[in-house]
Amino acid sequence: MARSHNFSAGPSALPMEVLREAHREFFDFAGTGMSVMEISHRSGTFIELARQAEQDLRTILKVPDHYRVLFLQGGASLQFSQVPMNLLRGKRTADYLHTGLWSGKAIQAASRYCDVRVAGSSESSGFDHIPDAADWQLNPDAAYLHYTENETVHGVQFSTTPDAAVPLVCDACSSLLSKPIDVAKHGLIYAAAQKNIGPAGVTVVIVDEALLDAPLNVTPDVLNYAHQARADSMLNTPATFSWYLTGLTLKWISRSGGIEQIHRANQAKAELLYRTIDSSDGFYVNPVQAASRSINNVPFVLADPALEKTFLQLADRAGLNGLKGHASVGGIRASIYNAIGLPAVEALTDFMHDFQRIHG
Ligand SMILES: *Cc1c(COP(=O)(O)O)cnc(C)c1O
Repeated sequence: MARSHNFSAGPSALPMEVLREAHREFFDFAGTGMSVMEISHRSGTFIELARQAEQDLRTILKVPDHYRVLFLQGGASLQFSQVPMNLLRGKRTADYLHTGLWSGKAIQAASRYCDVRVAGSSESSGFDHIPDAADWQLNPDAAYLHYTENETVHGVQFSTTPDAAVPLVCDACSSLLSKPIDVAKHGLIYAAAQKNIGPAGVTVVIVDEALLDAPLNVTPDVLNYAHQARADSMLNTPATFSWYLTGLTLKWISRSGGIEQIHRANQAKAELLYRTIDSSDGFYVNPVQAASRSINNVPFVLADPALEKTFLQLADRAGLNGLKGHASVGGIRASIYNAIGLPAVEALTDFMHDFQRIHG
């Protein structure tokens, strides 16, 4: 079997052990004689699977008891609307930090529901850093402050959790479970699974239950966090197979030494890649300021853009896939999520050295 090194931004690679385990029990899950995707979400077998996944996630991220953990559908993009629907709580404005493509989409979606104030932005410099907290214009009357922990397209990431006097909302779509996060500093954290947590179809929401008291009247029941919390995220049929694979991935994270160990491994991969870029004498360029560089997504360009196509073609032929940058920015992007091992990144940096030797 020839497995590619998969640097896709999402859906992305799953750990081989998880794929093997799912393969092994594909036809007969937990002695039921049925695939996990063929059983009722109301069955004891599935409810136990769901309970275990929540428990594992709580343990890995040290989630305090007064937070609810939900496994929803609709992706992170639906959260862009679901957050204001549920968390405005009688207020008319919310603060957003604008740090890249994804925060831009969150701002656009929230503008339907409230007066969005951009409290800080790096747009004028092409989203090459996280704006200094000293320059943020925070509104004490905001319903919440929203930030995008890791900008998947621009490759910028917060190095510390913002301080906020209002509930802090985090789009952690491409970074949740890749590094520790101080849940208690947040009102709500959301992440679709298809980056570091599992396959597409499940969206993890971690929310302080104190914030669930006043959704907008128009909020459909399935988008109402309080209703979903009471129904254990099963108000309607959930994405059972994705939930199951997410559960297996959480077990894999625990087995791999937990979140600190995962974080160290991710830092080592990112360091190797940035070192390769920075020591290339300008052949490869990452435009992000050093303090804001992402450990999840590493975008870079070639000084000679005419070489990009060849780079991508040869990389693909060498079994290094998913390296094409997002359409909005072009260039190259290596997403090095949890399931990407150091050997994959070494294969990439070896390839980059070779490519530079021949074309530099
Ligand atoms: C991928 C991503 C999203 C969108 O996720 P969908 O599940 O496709 O809606 C939102 N925010 C960030 C930071 C992302 O990386």
